[in-house]
Formats: sequence, structure tokens, C-alpha cells
Amino acid sequence: MSFDVKSFMQMIEAKNPGEKEFHQAVTEVVHSLAPFLDKNPKYVKHKVLERIVEPERVIMFRVPWVDDKGEIQVNRGFRIQMNSAIGPYKGGLRFDPSVYLGLLKFLAFEQVFKNSLTTLPMGGAKGGSDFDPAGKSDNEVMAFCQSFMSELFRHIGPNIDVPAGDINVGGREIGYMYGMYKKLTNEFTGVLTGKGLNWGGSLIRPEATGYGCVYLCVEMMKTKGQSFQGKTVAISGSGNVAQYACQKATQLGAKVVTLSDRGGTIYDPNGITAEKLAYVIELKGVKRGKLTDYAKEYKCEHSTDKNPWAYKCDVALPCAKQNELDGKDAENLVKNGCTCVGEGANMPCTPEAVEKFLAAKTLFAPGKAANAGGVAVSGLEMSQNSIRTSWTRDEVDKKLEGIMRAIHEKCVEYGKKGDFINYVDGANIGGFVKVADAMIDQGVV
Ligand code: NDP
Repeated sequence: MSFDVKSFMQMIEAKNPGEKEFHQAVTEVVHSLAPFLDKNPKYVKHKVLERIVEPERVIMFRVPWVDDKGEIQVNRGFRIQMNSAIGPYKGGLRFDPSVYLGLLKFLAFEQVFKNSLTTLPMGGAKGGSDFDPAGKSDNEVMAFCQSFMSELFRHIGPNIDVPAGDINVGGREIGYMYGMYKKLTNEFTGVLTGKGLNWGGSLIRPEATGYGCVYLCVEMMKTKGQSFQGKTVAISGSGNVAQYACQKATQLGAKVVTLSDRGGTIYDPNGITAEKLAYVIELKGVKRGKLTDYAKEYKCEHSTDKNPWAYKCDVALPCAKQNELDGKDAENLVKNGCTCVGEGANMPCTPEAVEKFLAAKTLFAPGKAANAGGVAVSGLEMSQNSIRTSWTRDEVDKKLEGIMRAIHEKCVEYGKKGDFINYVDGANIGGFVKVADAMIDQGVV
């Protein structure tokens, strides 16, 4: 009897009402896995899928803090410890008003497969808060981070759960949280990744997700005898992932023509050079400003109604947020000659968009493969902390490239169908097998 996707998804929807992003992520994985499960009934017998969709633990807590006016504010904090079959829980923290349980469950679920693909021993988790850092002073962000950590610290540890950054959680926030963790536990230990270089951080960690995404695209393009040299690239977002995807694509000879933020999209047909990117990094990371300033500085188009996918490109790298590229955008990209898409963000393409890319035989890398470079270097940061050393920039970069190549090979192993590589199936099945086998080995726990 074949695996019944429909009744499995009905069960998921009934048990997790209103969690639409979680349903979307599980649907994609289950569709990839169904034919594989039919050929490998041991996973069905051991009810691995039923177990893997259920978080091992969900922690939800109050985060009270006092703003600059002396008023008490209350946010909600979360940590979803999804799966620890192959290593300690590992995954980022997101601070954004859109954060709720279902969003973090989708991200934690994706993280399990992604971490497995990196070849490193890391389980999957995700966390965060509905706190909105926009417009908050440094002091307010610190007060919030300290309060958040004053609860989270009891649930994490270097061999238990190692959080990292994600949307709106960068070096500043990791610093404030690490300081509080250290004060509460009286321990200097590798409990968060994305730390500053002077206090246990790894070289290349800030660059890792964006670089890794480009490295995976390099491998995909090689299968078609292509490279980044001379290509036009459209990127969305202008945060951590977008910045370093832009840097690496440019270093490899491509011309990046778009970036975006919550205020709109810039289109710079002359290309976002190293000098212009330095301006963006300062604008976003230090001044916390908007891309409208870039448009004024470099006299280029800024649009509030066009997204980056409206412009002609060879390669598209969505690096902002989930569901930011829909079926119509995908159609437009394919029509305009785009042949390679790497999801720098988590689930930025809607299911309709993914369908369109696969139908057009576009080289399409899903987030769990394409953005795994970030967590991979986080894993390398954990290793360096454990053995109390720091590797050089070149050493970490080489290891990152090697990991992205290994992820590509895994996708090919499980996703090759004739002359087409379905990277969605490859990543889902490749990520699943290692975790599923470990779960079976460890019994019903
Ligand atoms: P950042 O906070 O550094 O940047 C996010 C970018 O997305 C910003 O430019 C932001 O605009 C833009 N953005 C956020 N929400 C919206 C929105 N509603 N509409 C339009 N633009 C929006 O986050 P990261 O770069 O770290 O993360 C980006 C994506 O990559 C996320 O999906 C994350 O989960 C994923 N990812 C990140 C990893 C990492 O190592 N950081 C690892 C793996 C995946 P604005 O500047 O206006 O706020």
C-alpha cells in the first residue's frame, strides 16, 4: 500500500490548526518523500514521519522589559526544540512581529533536514520573539535581549541547544544575549553562534549563508557547463544573507542589479560593486537605514511596487523572507531567461513558484540546501569553541565550500531523474535519511 499523503496532511492540519507555514513546509517534504517511503517501508513501519513532525519540546515564555520612557512592555518568546537525533538542537532566533508558533515550527522543521545535509552532527531547532527592533534604541534592544535570555538560558547549553541569529538578530543581539547567558551561568562557553571574533566567533560566519548559497549555485551551474562569470543576478533583501550573496556573486564575475527591503526595491543596472555594497553594509548594519538612501546616493531606480523578480536576470537569489516570490514572479523570471534560482532565505518561493521552476527545468535549490552554509559554519564555530582554537578565514571558507559541494552531491544522489536533477526531492530525501535512521536506531523516544 502506498503512503497516503492526503490523510497524512489532513492529520497535520487538524493537529496544528492555523499554522499555515508549517503545513506548507510539511506538504513539500511529504510529497518528496512519498515515493521513497513506498520503496523503503521500514520508515513507515517505525512511524518516522509521524514522529519527525512533532517537536520534541516547545518552550513558550513571557519576555517583560522596560522601554526608554520607563513603560513596561511584554513580548512572547519561543524555542522549538524539534529534533535531536543526530546532535544537539541548533537553529536561529528571529525577532519580528510576524513571529508566532506556526512560523517557528516551519523553520525548526526545515532546520532538521538542513542540518542533516551539512554532514555535521546537529539537531534542529528555531526560536525567537514577536519583538520588533525597528525604531528601538540600543538600550531597548539590550533590555529586551537580556530579558529574553533570562528565561532561555535554562533550556540551552553547548551540548544541549545552541541558538544563532536570523532575521533581525545579528552580532549586536547575539552579543547582548551572550553577555546575559554568561552572567547567569558564570560560564564562558560556546552556547550561541555568530559571536564576535574577540569572544569565540568564527571567521566567515557573517558571510557563510550568502557565500554558501552562491557556492551551491556554482555547483548547479557546473552541471550545465555554466558559471557566474558575466551573469546578471537579482537578489532580494539587503540584510546579512543578501549582502554576502551579492559580494560572492560579484567576486565570481557576476553583476548584481537588485536588492530590496521592507520599503521597496532598488534596480541598479550598472551593478552593485564592492564599493556600493560597502555602503549597503554600513547603511543596514550600522545606520539601520533604508534603500531609498542608496537610490539617492547612486542615482538609480527605487520602486515600491516592483519586486526584484520584475527585472531581467540570469540568476535569482531570494534572500529576504518566506513566500516572497510567487507563481507569477516565477513565470516572469523564466520568461526573462532566468535559469538558476537559489533560495538564500527559508521558503521564499511559494509552492506555485517552485512548480513553475521545476516545470521549466530551472536549476532550483531549495533553502534547506542553498542556505545551509550559515548553520554549517555555526557548526564549525562550535567545533572551534570545543577545541579552543580559531581557524583562519581561508580554512573556514574552504570547509564551507567543501560542505556545499557535499550537499550538492547528496541532492544529486537522491534527486537525479534522467538528465534532470530535482534538488527539492534530493534535499528532502537526503536530509531525511540520516535523521530517520538515527531515530530508528535510538528506539521509540
Ligand atoms: P536580516 O534581518 O539581516 O535581513 C532581512 C532582510 O529581509 C532585510 O533586508 C529586511 O528588510 C528584509 N525583509 C524582512 N521582512 C520583509 C518584508 N516583510 N518585506 C520585504 N523585505 C523584508 O536577516 P537575514 O539576512 O539573516 O535572513 C534573511 C533570510 O535568510 C530569512 O529567511 C532567514 O531565515 C534566512 N536564513 C538566514 C541565515 C543566517 O545565517 N542569517 C541562515 C539561513 C537562512 P529591512 O532592512 O527593511 O528590515
